[in-house]
Amino acid sequence: MNNMIHEECGVLGIFRKDAGPLARLAYDGLFALQHRGQESCGIVLNDDGLFYSHKDLGLVGEVFSKDVLKRFPQGNMAVGHVRYGTTGALNRANCQPVEVNHQKGKLAIAHNGNLSNAWELRNALEMRGAIFHGTSDTEIIAYLITQERLRCRDIETAVAAAAGRLEGAFSLVVMSAAKMIAVRDPHGFRPLCYGMRPDHTYVIASESCALESVGARFIRDVAPGELIVWDNDGIRCQVLPGSDIRRSRCIFEYIYFARPDSVIDGISVHEARKQAGRILAETSPAEADLVIGVPDSGLDAALGYSAASRIPYGIGLIKNKYIGRTFIVPGQDERMNAVHLKLNPVKNAVNGKRIILIDDSIVRGTTSGQIVSMLRAAGAKEIHMRISSPPFLHPCYYGTDIDSEDNLIANHHTVDQIKEIIGADSLAYLPVERLYQLSGTEEICDACFSGNYPTQKPVHSSKERFDRRLSERYNKE
Ligand code: SF4
Repeated sequence: MNNMIHEECGVLGIFRKDAGPLARLAYDGLFALQHRGQESCGIVLNDDGLFYSHKDLGLVGEVFSKDVLKRFPQGNMAVGHVRYGTTGALNRANCQPVEVNHQKGKLAIAHNGNLSNAWELRNALEMRGAIFHGTSDTEIIAYLITQERLRCRDIETAVAAAAGRLEGAFSLVVMSAAKMIAVRDPHGFRPLCYGMRPDHTYVIASESCALESVGARFIRDVAPGELIVWDNDGIRCQVLPGSDIRRSRCIFEYIYFARPDSVIDGISVHEARKQAGRILAETSPAEADLVIGVPDSGLDAALGYSAASRIPYGIGLIKNKYIGRTFIVPGQDERMNAVHLKLNPVKNAVNGKRIILIDDSIVRGTTSGQIVSMLRAAGAKEIHMRISSPPFLHPCYYGTDIDSEDNLIANHHTVDQIKEIIGADSLAYLPVERLYQLSGTEEICDACFSGNYPTQKPVHSSKERFDRRLSERYNKE
């Protein structure tokens, strides 16, 4: 139950040759991607070259009321986005999709990921007079595509040329007046896939769960380094220059970020989590009576641990489904109780038992400590905590908000010390060298666990990097 690490965004694109009621379809798709971003959302709909948009802070169900959806006309393309801002302050200027009107037409862009060369790119653009409204990396991408569009023969050539100047993570959906384009960076950090509805509407989404929610059949993942175009002439694919590099798919998508009913690059997220549980049972066995998982992402791993260890699986913690982003903890003193409001132990299940408790990760240790103490209060005799990821030691630069080593308990404590801090009887993590067995390939990014970054580290990486720079400048003027 990691409430401290967030995925940045979810993206969605819809293309069909004739006009249809796409706003509702986009709404349904974004609803299925809500777990990837809860701070803001937006839809831009294309009705024969005219763009209609609505974006705001809030959840999909809050921002898109029935009245708002009704105001959208029919259209033949749409781009959607849900955002948790890993870079850029929480404000409307950073809501996506980003829209651009330029000399040759218009664009709407939705982006998932973070660039590792954003600082250099933005500096260079600003030195040539570029004006930015917000502080997200997506505006930089929009600028580069627009610059390239002014000298390239078509939008897909412009997007490919701009992509060649980006480093880091970008899964993009780009809509022009007549074309829909999907691009995934050559490392393949963030997922992106597409499918088709029976009425020949194509749907592109960050995760396959969103395709199913709009009645589309999964066709395939967008390959790392691939650019795909949909227009009235059909579908065309091309490989981005410089794509013959080692892939670095984010392994934490499988452990925590993605929905368990999604399939990423051919691997079921649910199965990957069960596999993590099986590995933990093999590498860190313990004598116990019951295996329980911390909802939601610890549950699948607990199933795997139980199956491999033959220790019965049970439901030991119940999550309050109605606590959302808008829940306000009344004050500092009450903050310690926040975990109790989200989770409650099932006393009958845990009382008098030796428990294996599985969670996806430990960030600061506060939440884990509270869960352990609430299980003890409910009568658990022993608590053996098993974590379905290795210890978090390093920040992530590719689209999540693990941005400071100071916040990572494992960075300055040993496993034994963490065990004492959280009050467990034993503690063990998934071995970092076994991570690849979750995704079935060694071509993964595990930098936040291993420190092996697949790209150059960014010059500045903090979440507020551009906000701080702006305020420094304003203070001088
Ligand atoms: Fe994923 Fe960690 Fe790599 Fe970031 S550093 S992309 S969270 S594996």
